[in-house]
Amino acid sequence: MLHRPIYLDCHATTPLDERVLEAMLPYFREQFGNPASSGHAYGWAAAAAVTQARETLAAAIHAEPEEMIFTSGATESNNLAIKGVAEAYFSQGRHLITLATEHRAVLDPCAYLESLGFEVTYLPVQADGRIDLEQLEAAIRPDTILVSVMAANNEIGVLHPLAAIGALCHRRNVLFHTDAAQAIGKVPLDVQAMQIDLLSLTAHKVYGPKGIGSLYVRRKQPRVQLAPQLHGGGQERGLRSGTLYPPQIVGFAKAIELAIAHQVTENQRIDTLRDRLWQALQAIDGIHLNGHPTHRLAGNLNVRVDGVDGQALLLGLQPVVAVSSGSACSSTTTAPSHVLTALGLSAPQAYASIRFGLGRFTTAAEIDQVAQHVTTTVRSLRQAVGQAV
Ligand SMILES: *Cc1c(COP(=O)(O)O)cnc(C)c1O
Repeated sequence: MLHRPIYLDCHATTPLDERVLEAMLPYFREQFGNPASSGHAYGWAAAAAVTQARETLAAAIHAEPEEMIFTSGATESNNLAIKGVAEAYFSQGRHLITLATEHRAVLDPCAYLESLGFEVTYLPVQADGRIDLEQLEAAIRPDTILVSVMAANNEIGVLHPLAAIGALCHRRNVLFHTDAAQAIGKVPLDVQAMQIDLLSLTAHKVYGPKGIGSLYVRRKQPRVQLAPQLHGGGQERGLRSGTLYPPQIVGFAKAIELAIAHQVTENQRIDTLRDRLWQALQAIDGIHLNGHPTHRLAGNLNVRVDGVDGQALLLGLQPVVAVSSGSACSSTTTAPSHVLTALGLSAPQAYASIRFGLGRFTTAAEIDQVAQHVTTTVRSLRQAVGQAV
């Protein structure tokens, strides 16, 4: 194969783990049955695989299998959680709270609800990207029905204090949803201990296939009501119609099983590589970390470089390293990252930021090569405009 750039964009997606692919293959071939076909062995085999996968996923977040709804990914899970709660609870209140730094798959459903007459509070974050719990508490009103705060940010990797948010929401009788697309398999998640009512997952950020995810929906204390957003055959307890997709579901479960089994050791390894990269990049004058120094995902390093043009920087990096300056999910727009501007960065600072996403297959040799290349690229950009190196 031709020489490909080193992949450090693991917040956008991750490569499929070979072991996940192996687990999926039989369900494309001989085990092709529809899990809803209850009258023959093809259906039974598919249904058994789905049941087992559901148990694996539930166990990973300390939920019950019946509380896991399969979806096409975190975007759909977020839509189902937010619009589904709004539609089911609007007679009790029409106010929702979320963060300015959420993924578009949370912000856009919220904006849609505003167009229907709901009110949404978009809380600012602190300069390090973390939620301010006092501000959250102050924002909760008698008509607040849902708080949606992500577990880990997809740009700056910042981790939010889920247990504290869950406790506050339950004390104030408000449902708590968290988008855990970046967190699953990387940080511990426990819907009981953290008092989470709805939790969105996706497989492709943890070395699983694209196009499959899940929404955890709490069934007791409280029993969460949800209005389905897809109507049809009544699969997934009527909450998400559509034929289940066994290869993706089996792959999703395998990916989560692997990630959870190796979570601690893998985090340590990736954390060490990330620190090695950050250390090496200190050779660059005027380089700064975006986001919190320690409350962040192991694989995340988001930096900005003073006085370089962001566009030129990315262009210079791309033959050697695949990174991005913000979220892949909003990269069709040319606006600066809403996450970085929420930290107080100017538009040029946001453009001159790089998001490194390290993962399972990143090696120390790659990190050294990347650090070297970033350093020389910045140097040559600065020389071109006659600045100090
Ligand atoms: C990737 C991502 C999503 C979107 O997930 P899909 O499964 O691609 O729809 C949502 N939220 C966060 C935080 C993400 O990182």
